[in-house]
Amino acid sequence: MRRFGVRIPTSAQTLRALLPTGGKAFSLLKTTLMLNLVLFGPPGAGKGTQSEKLINKYQLVHISTGDLFRAHIKNQTALGKRVSQLIADGELVPDKITIDMLEEEIDKNPEAKGFVFDGFPRTIPQAVELDKFLEEKGSKIAGVIALDVDKDELVKRVALRQKETGRLDDQAEKSQKRIDEYFNKIILVLPYYDEQKKLTKINGIGEIEEIFGNLCSVIDSY
Ligand code: AMP
Repeated sequence: MRRFGVRIPTSAQTLRALLPTGGKAFSLLKTTLMLNLVLFGPPGAGKGTQSEKLINKYQLVHISTGDLFRAHIKNQTALGKRVSQLIADGELVPDKITIDMLEEEIDKNPEAKGFVFDGFPRTIPQAVELDKFLEEKGSKIAGVIALDVDKDELVKRVALRQKETGRLDDQAEKSQKRIDEYFNKIILVLPYYDEQKKLTKINGIGEIEEIFGNLCSVIDSY
């Protein structure tokens, strides 16, 4: 926007960059201007790869509920023991457990300029709770970007990942179940965000840099 020859910043990011750090008066404003993104997509869509690039570019905190669960399992925490079989079987972890873990992780990062939520929400109750939780903090989801990748490509990518990481839930039968679960159930979360005019779908097939460029164009338009 240009008035009287002066360029007035319009994007939340630009405003955030201009705000003085620290000071109570600004902390509420800072929260309001947080850049919270949901990166949505089936297993193997590239959410993890793109999240890493996004957090570097926009200085955000990456919260992957899958990564958090895997860390709990590796560290043999009580939570890890509770969820390990479900995860190995390619089942969803119950909402209450997942939401509590996610909220705790958000609260661990009070200085965050925003979050990239990867693998969360996967159900409508999770989406509703995330909105409520952020609203209580004077914040909200800026946008949801769904990476579009067809089933054949996903099967190939997850098989490759299984070879590299040995993830049990990436084994053929389990990964097929997770991919089907995404297209039959998890995808039903998208209309919730579409109704809020927050949903953008982008092609998740192609060069990583090209997909990243498309993601950034969407984010820069918020
Ligand atoms: P991911 O790495 O995102 O594919 O997640 C690995 C596994 O963690 C999933 O197959 C689920 O068992 C569990 N999980 C991760 N995020 C969620 C979620 N939002 N709701 C329920 N279960 C989840």
